[in-house]
Amino acid sequence: MACAALAVAQSAYAAPHPALFPEKWIDGTLADEPVTQVQALDGDTFVIRQSIKTNFEAPFLYLLFGRDKVLLVDTGAKDGRIRPTVDRLVADWLAAHHRTSIPLVVAHSHSHGDHVAGDAAFRDRPGTTVVGLKPADVAAFFGIANWPQQIARFDLGGRVLNVIPTPGHQAAAAMYYDARLKILLSGDTLYPGRLYVPVNFMPDDRASLDRLAAFAATHPIRAALGAHIEMTRTPGLDYGHEAPTHPDEHPLELPASTIAELKIGLKAPLDVPGKGQVHDHFIVMPVPARSE
Ligand SMILES: [Zn+2]
Ligand SMILES: [Zn+2]
Repeated sequence: MACAALAVAQSAYAAPHPALFPEKWIDGTLADEPVTQVQALDGDTFVIRQSIKTNFEAPFLYLLFGRDKVLLVDTGAKDGRIRPTVDRLVADWLAAHHRTSIPLVVAHSHSHGDHVAGDAAFRDRPGTTVVGLKPADVAAFFGIANWPQQIARFDLGGRVLNVIPTPGHQAAAAMYYDARLKILLSGDTLYPGRLYVPVNFMPDDRASLDRLAAFAATHPIRAALGAHIEMTRTPGLDYGHEAPTHPDEHPLELPASTIAELKIGLKAPLDVPGKGQVHDHFIVMPVPARSE
């Protein structure tokens, strides 16, 4: 009872002002919702959510256009239909710019199935490169000689991204920083939800957050945009695993201050699988050791 009373006494999060996204994200609470929802951050930057009605993971994907190429980060979970959405966005962008083609690079936040399930649909797409799923593949593609210490630059044409290796949650995890919009695409390493870290990879995750915090000290970050939402608007309260709907979701965006908060939180032992460390915006969740 004390916990419930405390939860009620705490104030729910208000939407940030100005809101980063004009619309409420699809959250499964309506009888009908589209299989994907797209919101634009500007004319060159699109965020795609896969409906929770197609897969409980309901991941977020990112499409960033430069003058010379366009980057898709992740291809969704099983039963997503991401390619038609991406094809439509690319076609609309090309039409708006009076062009006929632009090369597409498909990269990933990391190689878990709920972020790469749509890869196959892109392999036969003309003008498309699908980056491999192993750390060595990611390092080779982005020209990272010293994984995971080195931060790479990836130029889309007038729009240079930083690619930041962040192994921990998964060995091939990387974040993408866009200096133009000051956003950090933070994958499953930092998002409003349960940040699963295999206990054998906890040292890697600590080192990744140390490097990320150093990067953040010299690069302005308006928001970290992760790959899921699993927190409600009640501080510290998440949805149950595989919840079919997400009423009253936490905003997708996290303030940059959560980077330091996670870095400091990770200094705790965190060596008991299933025993989470609860923060207002996220929960660090050690899980049993994995091979990658
Ligand atoms: Zn993952
Ligand atoms: Zn995931």
